[in-house]
Order: sequence, then structure tokens, then C-alpha cells
Amino acid sequence: MPGMKYVSTRGDAPALDFADVTLTGLAADGGLYVPEEWPVLDADAIRALRGLDYVETAVRVMQPFVSSDLTEADLRNLCRAAYDGFDHAAVTPLRQLDADQWLLELFHGPTLAFKDVALQLLGRLFEQFLSGAGRQLTVVGATSGDTGSAAIHALAGLDSVDVFMMHPKGRISDVQRRQMTTVMAPNVHNMAINGSFDDAQAHVKRMFRDPQLRGFEISAVNSINWARLMAQVVYYFYAAVRLGAPERKIAFSVPTGNFGDVFAGYVAHRMGLPVERLIVATNVNDILHRALSAGDYSAGAVTPTASPSMDIQVSSNFERLLFEMAGRDGARVRTMMESFDSERRLSLPADMRARAALFSSARIDADQMALALRWAREDADMLIDPHTAIGLAAARAASGRKDLPAGTPIVTLATAHPAKFAEAVERAAGERPRTPERIAGLMDREERFQELAADYETVRDFVASRARPRAAHAETL
Ligand SMILES: *Cc1c(COP(=O)(O)O)cnc(C)c1O
Repeated sequence: MPGMKYVSTRGDAPALDFADVTLTGLAADGGLYVPEEWPVLDADAIRALRGLDYVETAVRVMQPFVSSDLTEADLRNLCRAAYDGFDHAAVTPLRQLDADQWLLELFHGPTLAFKDVALQLLGRLFEQFLSGAGRQLTVVGATSGDTGSAAIHALAGLDSVDVFMMHPKGRISDVQRRQMTTVMAPNVHNMAINGSFDDAQAHVKRMFRDPQLRGFEISAVNSINWARLMAQVVYYFYAAVRLGAPERKIAFSVPTGNFGDVFAGYVAHRMGLPVERLIVATNVNDILHRALSAGDYSAGAVTPTASPSMDIQVSSNFERLLFEMAGRDGARVRTMMESFDSERRLSLPADMRARAALFSSARIDADQMALALRWAREDADMLIDPHTAIGLAAARAASGRKDLPAGTPIVTLATAHPAKFAEAVERAAGERPRTPERIAGLMDREERFQELAADYETVRDFVASRARPRAAHAETL
């Protein structure tokens, strides 16, 4: 079978194979990489997933994306290693809340958020593709809280990778910060930026195109990295098959920030999984809700909330959906994104919105979030985190609505462990979540990070003065 190729959403960058797309971040034309075509698992192939454990499901779902760069046995070994460290045998267990409402717990990895599911695999893919290749990678990232710690835990100590992670100072929880800043591996560099997540993310994008960083091989672990999305497609199949797919359609409610997690659900649908609906749940930073419900994709100011990992106005992965909505016309996406970059607004024409009919959306404010959190505590005896509560509030609002057939199971993606946001959970539910073993002692450990001004040059110079240059022989190629 010829290997899958990846193309840019802006239509003007070289096509790459899986190994290169994994090690690259942004495409050279500023776009994001997507598979040249969607592989399909037909109904029999989906039925054949019944009874398989998480790792075997992962191998079946991801094999079409990686073939020719990884053997099936390699892929299986990498998945085993990645998911061995999860503290639940099902890796991503389902829990039933009431007749129709389910939670898919994605927080059993080392940093207690769903980012681990993808990054534990990505770290191992980096190792696999870099070992012996003589390449030195500089990973730059921006985090609204959870990506940073998951990336650092996946990459700490790797000899061929330097990690530079920016977080918006004071806008992430203490646990989130300490999960990053207490990692003392010499290849890990934490930067606290006096600005917002969107400032930091804009810096990351700029570093890819900065001639002054030409001596470094810049890479990304943000969800602009295709391999992360690919790893997240797996749990949509895993959950849906357990709830009766392909014979029954499932709806998913996804607490959304950068549009990565919910886009993985869209990929699952394109691959043949019968998905009834993808509910995009946002907090009051609601650009995606406005875009999907009214065609108004315009960035406002970021409002800090109790769900900081969703305090985002510009969702980089939305460009991947735009590409699909534009009938994969890269030139059209490029024109739209360039206009968005200067105007900070886009209006989505009706022909494009028609191609996003699988999605609905909801904007959940602080009171609705707290109500959902309390409902889970009182009616289902389950403590959930504020991000999950946003998803659950949207799921409960959608349940029984005319556009969702009665009896459709709705799976809310539980994206973080409640202990990661203990104060906010206690405020809403009146009960403090117990501290899991993994983070016991975190508050007593020494921290290391650099506080930096929010301007681009300061950040770029910090990276350039500490990163190791791309391997000498690669430069002469
Ligand atoms: C990252 C994150 C989200 C948002 O996911 P996206 O893929 O960025 O949409 C939601 N909840 C938690 C806990 C997260 O860490």
C-alpha cells in the first residue's frame, strides 16, 4: 500500500509523508497539514473493533495514516509503551451518568488531562523517527495549561529535542504550572509570558517563519501537529463501538478551545464512524459558537474563566475545518486566513456552513457550568472538572432537543481530572476532589521558569540563545 501523503490547508506547501509531518509543525505556506484523503473503515471493519482493547483499537484506527513509515508491529509497540503508564486498564473508560448521558474519561495519563493521550504517543514517535537520524529538534509551544505539562512529560530527557514552552503568566492553575515548572530535565525550558495564550500562540506561528531561527529545526507539539489529532481519533471509535456502533449513532459533546479534540471527532466521522452530532461546547470565549451558529468568526478579547484551557479566541485547528468547508480549496482558505489575520474577523458563507452541518454548538457561562458540576455530583455521584462541566452542560441542553433523536447516547469528553482544578470544583460542588497519587508532593517541589515580556523579540531571543542548532550534517544537505 502506498503511504499516506499530507497536504497543506493553504494548498501551497510540499506534500509530506507521515514521519515528516510528525516532526514538522506549521506548513511552509502557513497552513496546517491534513491527510490527502480520509481513509475509511467500513461497517465490518468497525464491527471488528468490538472487544478489542485500547491499544488494538488504536492500531486499527491509526494504521492507514502511518503506513509505509511504521510497520504495524512498530505502531503496536509504540502504543503499548504510550498507554502502559495510564492508571486505568481501559485507558479511556466510559461512565454512565443517566439514561442517555455518558462521560469518556480521558484523564488517566501522567498529567491528568486528555492531552496525555496524544502526547504520550507523540513523544515516542519523535524518538522513533529521530533516533539515528542525526537531527536536533527545537519544539516551541504555547499552552493554556494542559498541553505544556503533557508535552514536557512526554519529551523530558530526550536527547535530540529541546522544549520551549510558553504559558500566560498567572492565567493557569497552580497544579498546571507546577506540572511544568518542577520538571528539571535540562532540555526543558519554561517561559511565563506577560500576555495571553493567543499572544503566545501567535509567537509560535511566527517562529516557524523567522529567518533568524533558520539555524534551528523548529517543531510543534500544539494541536497544529497532525499526529496529535490522529491519536485522538482513536477514543471516538473506542467509545462508540462500546455503545453500539456501527449499529447505533452516537453524539459527542466536546469542551473546546483550539478545536483539536472535536476535529478528531470529525475525522472519525469522515472515516465512517456513524456520529449523530458533534456538540462544540465553549465557555464565554465563544468565537467557535458564534462561527458555527451564526457564521461570525471574529476574535474578541480573552476573558479568564474557571476553564482556562478553553480561554482561547483564535482556534488554530478551525482552519482544518475551513479547508473541508471550502471543498478542500487551499487557495480559498489562504485568502480567508490572510484576511482573518489582518481583520481579525471572517464571515462564513452559506455554502461553507452547509458542509459543517454535523456540528452544533453551545456557549456555557459560569453559572451553567457550576450547575452541571453540581448535577453530576448530586445526581450521578461524580466529581467532574470545570472543562468537563462545560461539555456536560451543553450535552444536557442538547438532550431531547428535536435535532437529536430520542435515545441517542451523548458522550461528554471528560478532558481533565477534577483535582487539577480543585478550588473551582470545591466552589461549585462544595467538595474537594481527592489528590491523586501522581500529583502528591507537587506543591513542595522546586520550580524553574523564566518570566518574559510578551513581545515577540524577547521570546525569540530567549529561544535562540538556549536551543541547540539543527544537526550540522542536516544543514549541508
Ligand atoms: C486543551 C483542553 C481543552 C480544549 O481542547 P482543544 O483540543 O484545544 O479544543 C479542553 N479541556 C481541557 C482540560 C484541555 O486541557
